[in-house]
Amino acid sequence: MKKGAAAPAPKRGSGLEPLLKRLGLRRREDLLLHLPLRYEDETCITPIAQAPWVGGVQVEGEVLSCEVQLRPRRQLVAVLDDGSGRLILRFLSFYPSQQQALLPGHRVRCLGEVRNGFFGAEMVHPRLRQVRADTPLPEALTPVYPTTAGLAQSALSRIIARALSGPALEEVLAPECLARHRLPTLWQAIRALHGPRPGDSLEALLTRNHPAWRRVKLDELLAQQLSLRQAYLARREVGAPPLTGSGELARQLKARLPFALTSAQERVEAEILADLAQPHPMQRLLQGDVGSGKTLVAALAACQAIASGWQAAFMAPTEILAEQHYLKLKDWLEPLGVSVAWLTGSLKARARREQIEAARQAGLVVGTHALIQEGVDFGRLGLVIIDEQHRFGVQQRLALRQKGGTPHQLMMSATPIPRTLAMSHYADLDVSVLDELPPGRTPIRTRLARDDRRDQVMDYVRRKVGEGRQVYWVCPLIEESEALQLQTALETHAWLQQELAGISIGLVHGRLKAPEKQAVMAAFAAGEVDLLVATTVIEVGVDVPNASLMVIEHAERFGLSQLHQLRGRVGRGLHESVCILLYAEPLSDTAKSRLKIIFEHTDGFEIARQDLQLRGPGEFVGSRQSGVPLLRYADLERDADLVELARELAEDLLAQAPAKAALQRERWLGGREEMLKV
Ligand code: ADP
Ligand code: MG
Repeated sequence: MKKGAAAPAPKRGSGLEPLLKRLGLRRREDLLLHLPLRYEDETCITPIAQAPWVGGVQVEGEVLSCEVQLRPRRQLVAVLDDGSGRLILRFLSFYPSQQQALLPGHRVRCLGEVRNGFFGAEMVHPRLRQVRADTPLPEALTPVYPTTAGLAQSALSRIIARALSGPALEEVLAPECLARHRLPTLWQAIRALHGPRPGDSLEALLTRNHPAWRRVKLDELLAQQLSLRQAYLARREVGAPPLTGSGELARQLKARLPFALTSAQERVEAEILADLAQPHPMQRLLQGDVGSGKTLVAALAACQAIASGWQAAFMAPTEILAEQHYLKLKDWLEPLGVSVAWLTGSLKARARREQIEAARQAGLVVGTHALIQEGVDFGRLGLVIIDEQHRFGVQQRLALRQKGGTPHQLMMSATPIPRTLAMSHYADLDVSVLDELPPGRTPIRTRLARDDRRDQVMDYVRRKVGEGRQVYWVCPLIEESEALQLQTALETHAWLQQELAGISIGLVHGRLKAPEKQAVMAAFAAGEVDLLVATTVIEVGVDVPNASLMVIEHAERFGLSQLHQLRGRVGRGLHESVCILLYAEPLSDTAKSRLKIIFEHTDGFEIARQDLQLRGPGEFVGSRQSGVPLLRYADLERDADLVELARELAEDLLAQAPAKAALQRERWLGGREEMLKV
């Protein structure tokens, strides 16, 4: 287009600027990367008599009449004739310019959907253009942009067209790379998407499989990878104590265990030790399915910190879990001469002062997020271990990082994250995977039972308890009300006590005071309680090998990862384990899919993959999502191959062309990546 002819520049304060800003369009790059939502086909004209009743169509004809009608409400109504038939054009709101274009005798082109109105065929709010008999048809598809109220499509198109008339964007990828992957340059891709050429397939442009789309998506993913990578490198520039102490303590711990490490545990231990020896903080995520033995790996890492003269802190998201870790780690480490301290939030001031004092002296401190609260000050914190890290918010992790300088960090998660999602959302972390369960586990059998078969379930429970096994009975999740959830737990407990006379039944829920919770859990672990009625407080980490039966009430209300975690509480010992999912009808479609998936699969990664398909990535990454630049064009599932490629290219670019890497981040993220530093 001719520069400046049809599209005067939006002047400061011209009224367009705030509208563009609302769309996030501030710089030229933003306009160029504001790509069409879809395309319209204005390349041909259909006679009115043959216009289809579904889908968009373009017609052209002469205006016979045009008037503003006041009933049933004010509207502009025109009649168009093209020789083959007549069409009513209806505008419930309209501009004077439209009225002007629709003067009788004018020739207009209209794009819209034809529908059968009360007075015959009509188009409501067509896109309208006044033409002359010889006005040529566009040869290519017309882009339609995402826009905002008050900013007309035509105005936005003109502004973008002007941005396109400027100089080509600098290319960041090498020509060989583009050739190898059969991709256009970014500039070619952008121009192709803003201005499709005659013959371009609407199909390819819409499904975003066009090479130009793939190039843009790759570019976006590349910027995301670079940004995450940059955050990772920035954190490495901070110093941390190299933990190079002797491996004697860890060796002693291993020697005392009644089992050998799995090869996955050995591999991950080595990965962690290599990190800890570095003079900058480890930032490692340890992923391992429920029961894969993450705690032991963490204990070995703690040994390394302690043997090097530093302290380790071990943080768990719930008090029950923290307590259990405390007991286990004490059992493992105190005989080796390591002092293990315990720190929670639910304590009176004096007891708490004593705890804090003990924590300052201890080799290992175990606790809840009380560890990061005000007033807790470690002497020499060298390593922080965060169990079930997805349960902690960004704020809590940030607070922890600020404690006692920058310790090494080991984050653990049993919520397996599908690979592409992990690569994208955890690209700023190193990842270790425990992909092997300790030997000798008997697989868990999962049973689905409708609520009305409760009697059979009770018989089964009696029989299992008679054989000396222990049982978890999980109360229904009631998301709307904690009080109601508590009430249900109390009622279930009372009811089971009545039904199962002679069986010792415990109850644990979120409202119990810490010492009460501890007493119940200890009694269950010691086998004094046969059946434990519990809310989801036992969801993560709890480990009582003799418990081999779990009943989950209203399983249809739980999410997939929750069910997987809960089920992981059994199947930890030598006895064959069973998980019974009680459900009540009617079931929603999603609930049905969830129950089917959990019934058919025990592998956490597979469950997570299917969960991702069911729910989309948003909920997976939880609070972390907020810190990661969102993707506008790429889709992590569908464009998995591009995620892999972007990751490789990001490494190369950072190593070989840091200036281009910076340009790429700036181009796509333009200063919006601050949040990533967390
Ligand atoms: P998770 O990865 O879910 O946190 P845990 O660390 O709680 O798993 O381990 C589950 C159980 O397996 C614990 O009782 C633990 O002592 C045991 N365990 C860990 N490693 C091994 C191993 N190599 N061989 C046998 N049992 C193991
Ligand atoms: Mg665990």
